[in-house]
Amino acid sequence: MQECVFCRIARGEIPVQLLWDTPAVAAFRDANPQAPIHILIVPKKHIPSLDALQEEDGALVDELFKAARELARREGCAERGYRVVINTGADGGQTVPHLHLHLMAGREFGWPAG
Ligand code: AMP
Ligand code: ZN
Repeated sequence: MQECVFCRIARGEIPVQLLWDTPAVAAFRDANPQAPIHILIVPKKHIPSLDALQEEDGALVDELFKAARELARREGCAERGYRVVINTGADGGQTVPHLHLHLMAGREFGWPAG
């Protein structure tokens, strides 16, 4: 079976520019961006989805959201606003089974999500 693509990115086996790179969390640009700024923020350990998060992942969750806040500021979109999305499971539209936050900005988004 092919190994998880986000695990491979987190381990540096697929050469992408890491915008966040700490022992627990990595962030990189989405390969198929849906907004002028579209960044994926992932835990380095393999967690299949939001639904698989455990109580003991609290510090990790803090860092995932800290990365979203901080990257939004660095990308210059914190003031105008941005959207953070976690697609979860089949009906949630999740296509890569490794927990990730989408940080999207640079345009206005509609609601409700499609
Ligand atoms: P989701 O549909 O929420 O699971 O989102 C998965 C996202 O991962 C999509 O937006 C894809 O464009 C993106 N993606 C898949 N493979 C890669 C990759 N190798 N590098 C960067 N982004 C990727
Ligand atoms: Zn993985």
